[in-house]
Amino acid sequence: MKVLIVGGGGREHALAWKCAQSPRVARVFVAPGNAGTALEPKTCNIDIGAEDIDALAAFAARERIDLSIVGPEAPLVAGIADRFAADGLACFGPSAAAARLEGSKVFAKDFLRRHAIPTASYRTFTKADWDARYVRAQRPPLVIKADGLAAGKGVVVCGDHESALAAAALMFGGAHGAAGERIVVEEFLQGEEVSFIVVAGDQQALPLASAQDHKRRDDGDLGPNTGGMGAYSPAPIVTPALHARIMREVIEPTLRGLRADGNPYSGFLYAGLMIAADGTPNVLEFNCRMGDPEAQPIMMRLQSDLPALCQAALAGTLAQSGALWDARAALGVVMAAGGYPDAYRTGDPIGGLEEAARLPGKVFHAASRLHGAQVLTNGGRVLCAVGLGPSVGAAQRQAYDLVHAIHWERAQYRRDIGYRAIAREAGGSPR
Ligand code: AMP
Repeated sequence: MKVLIVGGGGREHALAWKCAQSPRVARVFVAPGNAGTALEPKTCNIDIGAEDIDALAAFAARERIDLSIVGPEAPLVAGIADRFAADGLACFGPSAAAARLEGSKVFAKDFLRRHAIPTASYRTFTKADWDARYVRAQRPPLVIKADGLAAGKGVVVCGDHESALAAAALMFGGAHGAAGERIVVEEFLQGEEVSFIVVAGDQQALPLASAQDHKRRDDGDLGPNTGGMGAYSPAPIVTPALHARIMREVIEPTLRGLRADGNPYSGFLYAGLMIAADGTPNVLEFNCRMGDPEAQPIMMRLQSDLPALCQAALAGTLAQSGALWDARAALGVVMAAGGYPDAYRTGDPIGGLEEAARLPGKVFHAASRLHGAQVLTNGGRVLCAVGLGPSVGAAQRQAYDLVHAIHWERAQYRRDIGYRAIAREAGGSPR
């Protein structure tokens, strides 16, 4: 069979690499892909942007693609799954109506409240009905969120009333364009964050291995928020009891609620959760796709045939499927361009990739491109080096051996990915 992966980041490299391992798959196309996907066996890049839905649908029809998997949220929110379905093409990803779970924070919060799924208390506002008194009446910290997609920059945690009012004013002033025309003012939740991702097919859900990521740029979870500086799987915080609770209190009512509302969901469904001290899994956000960088360690551990799982979800036969996992832990360290997430340089030659390829583990590319035979940096988060091991600590050592083999000018990475899980393994405090 032929598979099309839509997107060009680290998540898409991991999805393409996993699909190419399936004996049923003859060819994997990645649109637009990166240097990593260009160099994988059975895999080739095609020069179509991830948001060019017309060109992607035409390509999939012409090449008789058997299964398309959409990596990023933007084409899903824009309706790529609806278009492929209308053209009779198998596409793993939610409809635009269901993808509003990620595309609109107001939609997601109202959905959660309507279906009694645990989440932070909130109110939504437009510029016209903005009420600064509401903000002043809340106890800080407060979280201000732009409604629409804002490339991960639409959430501001505010320590006092003045900064919350300033964040709202910036959003209403157009800092995020139309995404900020509506905002959510939300209670700040304490706890530990967990990513919980399932393969969903209408009412059925197959949970993937648990994972946890590090969003802040600097060691100790300090510094600015980023797309993610590293991730590991499994997340020891997700005990079997918590797993069951997340399925019962979050995943199942979400899929039921979507169906009841007329928006049945198929695709990866990602719940970003804040686990409270009493174990309540509060939903911080939904993503309508796989996480990045969570996909990289999760795909390293997946032993089942990924295209088969996606096809089972589309056929409504997920309940008969199971997923097999490597019992080892996987841990990925993101290598980013110096300056990320603010201004950074692209086009730097990356050295040491051949040496890293001889080491155990796997280097997934995110923002890289080929210039002849040379691999160049091509964005903020450039690579994700993933190690495997009998413990998170051992996986971490393998990942950093890869990182230390690779170099370019002003590369930056965190040195402590997985530290909470490693402290738990050592029997110490996770903080
Ligand atoms: P979101 O895109 O809504 O997940 O927000 C991005 C990040 O902001 C999350 O991963 C959390 O670290 C943080 N965050 C969002 N909402 C809250 C909240 N209500 N309480 C505490 N932290 C939050």
